[in-house]
Amino acid sequence: MKYHIVSYGCQMNDYDSELMAGLLEETGYEKVDRPEKADVIVVNTCCVRETAERKVWGLLGTLKRLKRRKPDLVIAVTGCLPQQNGAAEDIRRRFPHVDLVIGTHNRHELPRLVEEVRAAREPLCAVWREAGEVIEGLPVRRESKLSAWVPIMFGCDNFCTYCVVPYVRGRERSRRPEDIIREVETLVAQGYREVTLLGQNVNSYGRGLDPPTDFATLLERLDRVEGLWRIRYTTSHPRDFTQRLIDVIANSEKVCEHFHLPVQAGSNRILRRMHRGYTREDYLRLVDGIRAAVPEASITTDIMVGFPGETEEDFQDTLELVRQVQFDQAFTFVYNPRKGTPAARMPDQVPAEVKSRRIQELIAVQKEISLAKNRAEQGKVHEILVEGPSETDAARLAGRTRTNKTVVFEGAPAYIGTLVPVEIIEGKLTHLVGVVRNLR
Ligand code: SAH
Ligand code: SF4
Repeated sequence: MKYHIVSYGCQMNDYDSELMAGLLEETGYEKVDRPEKADVIVVNTCCVRETAERKVWGLLGTLKRLKRRKPDLVIAVTGCLPQQNGAAEDIRRRFPHVDLVIGTHNRHELPRLVEEVRAAREPLCAVWREAGEVIEGLPVRRESKLSAWVPIMFGCDNFCTYCVVPYVRGRERSRRPEDIIREVETLVAQGYREVTLLGQNVNSYGRGLDPPTDFATLLERLDRVEGLWRIRYTTSHPRDFTQRLIDVIANSEKVCEHFHLPVQAGSNRILRRMHRGYTREDYLRLVDGIRAAVPEASITTDIMVGFPGETEEDFQDTLELVRQVQFDQAFTFVYNPRKGTPAARMPDQVPAEVKSRRIQELIAVQKEISLAKNRAEQGKVHEILVEGPSETDAARLAGRTRTNKTVVFEGAPAYIGTLVPVEIIEGKLTHLVGVVRNLR
């Protein structure tokens, strides 16, 4: 039996896809790279923004033909989309060729549900409204041999007014530090050298655990894992980023000098309406604090334009903040209403043409900054963890700096999986080009 998984959305979804792959392989399934060859197709969905949702609907539409040709094919829809109110019924109605609808809290049941669907020969739906206990020890089939996703917490309790995540991922729950450390040690023994700790808001890690602990303490403990080279994490909420956390990161050996701090907006009025819990001044102070303690830090962000009630002046505040901070990179989004969230019901929605003009303006400003930042890397030597052939040019290698910039360079395949000093010769918009410095 063969399976194929299509994964949309964030790193947590990528991790869930690796987990479902592991579960299927444990029961004897084999991975194939094309849906046409599969007996089970899993579509792991995202609904954080409209564009992500639209992609899912499009794919489900095209799978109809495949199902008609191959009636024994099992099509499963998993992830965040089914977890939205009414969405599971919607999927069943619009796409009767979908056999299985599974929510975020039921992903571990995938193999059993696939068997049930095969036996019953009729569609099934498993969407728990609430998360159960955190389940440890599930098999994971990881895409990379070098770098691993490690979830440290699930769900989110922040309820930013635009965001659907707390509704589809449930309440915040942390894994026990012992379980995380044991998993990282096992990964290192298997040859992994980099871990990325995952959570919607990693800085609130440990709340509610007995005994309570925090993210800074977890980082301190992971920093001592022998054989591990790099620790990354995402996402951290600017509100909960403490000075102690900055100090721990500054003093650690393995935690990388990259801070992804989604600011969302530069206007205090909008930040308040978003329920973000910090002001523009708080954010700027945090950036200063980080740069004072970790001068080589790269800082990236997420920004949204067109939140309900955003005036031209509010938008100018965002542009002004972007110019002031000089982000290395920004992920920019047009706000769109998400079902069930407070912002979707706010009366003063911004017209589409205004949003579209604002996003273009924002992208243009940030592009210049990203390019200037990357050009400023020219002449510097970075330690690169070499991941493999470059995606855009298979004849060259690619890897990342500790600051999370991708570097493309020429080198022998033997470099893959090792740390190599690379001198940056050119800074491009999305990546750097380098040459290997002689290893002394
Ligand atoms: N937990 C992370 C973000 C998860 S969602 C955090 O708090 O930073 C990833 C990004 O999608 C958000 O940072 C936000 O910029 C964007 N986003 C979320 N909801 C959105 C919506 N309704 N419309 C447009 N962008 C949205
Ligand atoms: Fe969404 Fe806010 Fe939670 Fe991030 S912190 S997942 S933006 S509610």
